[in-house]
Amino acid sequence: MEGLVRNLYLTALVGMMALGRALSAQPGGDRATSIKPGESCPPGMTEIRPRSCMGPESTAPSILDYRPRSTLVVPEHMVKKARYPAIDFHGHPQGMLGSVESLARLGADLDSLNVRMMIVANNVSGDALKRTVATVNASPSMKDRVRVLTGINFQSVGPEWAERAVAQLEADVAAGAVGIGEIGKGFGQSIRKADGSRLALDDPALDPIWEAAARLRLPVFIHTGDPQEFYKPVDYTNERWLELSLFPGRRVSPDQHPNFDELMKERDNLFRRHPKTTFVAAHMGWHANDLGRLGKMLTEMPNVYVDVGAVLYDIGRQPRAAHDFFVKFQDRILFGKDSYQPEEYPYYWRVFETNDDYFDYYRHYHAFWKLYGIGLPDEVLKKVYYKNALNITPRLPQAGWPR
Ligand SMILES: [Zn+2]
Repeated sequence: MEGLVRNLYLTALVGMMALGRALSAQPGGDRATSIKPGESCPPGMTEIRPRSCMGPESTAPSILDYRPRSTLVVPEHMVKKARYPAIDFHGHPQGMLGSVESLARLGADLDSLNVRMMIVANNVSGDALKRTVATVNASPSMKDRVRVLTGINFQSVGPEWAERAVAQLEADVAAGAVGIGEIGKGFGQSIRKADGSRLALDDPALDPIWEAAARLRLPVFIHTGDPQEFYKPVDYTNERWLELSLFPGRRVSPDQHPNFDELMKERDNLFRRHPKTTFVAAHMGWHANDLGRLGKMLTEMPNVYVDVGAVLYDIGRQPRAAHDFFVKFQDRILFGKDSYQPEEYPYYWRVFETNDDYFDYYRHYHAFWKLYGIGLPDEVLKKVYYKNALNITPRLPQAGWPR
């Protein structure tokens, strides 16, 4: 009897061990583990079946080295030159404005892209502005192709600041400035008033300058803050992890004041306070990843325009929504490139003009995804490329553009 009990016990034990082996014999063996609903896989593993995680057999490449070649075969339409002559409203042609010769090189670059005119948004004023205008005027081939925005000196805002700033603005306009900008992202973030406090974007002390811009019909080109991911913890869920790791100076502490939403609120207050002033929010106001929000803003504030500089990665990853947005707000969007790299413009033309699928963006660290063409109609292209810029900037040469 004792022997029988022992046998039964041993049989049960062996059976339980077999069951245990069967249960753990999921794909991947030791490399697999299971998780509870709602949990994510441990580092180094990926979810291969519901709640079942596994790590690769060999060491995984870093995100820098993983460069899979797409096997997708679809029509490709490379667009070297814009279909219509373009105005680059967000120009920073570094080192090309100093002489008639360098301007001629800029002209050759722009010709190869069909960019007819560049608006220099280098925030210059006074003598520096006069020098640039003089060089442009001395260039037979470029005198109608480069225009300059003037800068506002926001240092030490206090008593009598506005009077001086407006006088300088008027002098710069007399010297040839066609608008104001690019007001940099320090405005609202780091610039201090004479009394040491932070200069808020909607500070009433600045009202006279915005009123002067309206009176002189100068568009105000303004860059506020950074992409919202720059204000988030730099962990592996951050879409811009690689960029923020390559350029740690771009990180904004998550508890910094003002944070992203505080800045945007101040900016919108500024836009609302001055309905007669035309504002151009650079980089689609950093809302290209949330076109619903941007659409609300444009609907609510008819004096606000946006440029598309450096946010192509957001436009091209939502081709249907972006197409509809550009059609709906076709009078409010301006082409602008920002960083001057001639080889990057054709990516914009391809996104705007074609319906191509799934192609590379020019800057991998901005975007871990592919782009798609948004196939804009001709009339929308003309508005985005030049008509809207001409409309809001009456001091631009208005003759000779296609109707
Ligand atoms: Zn810029």
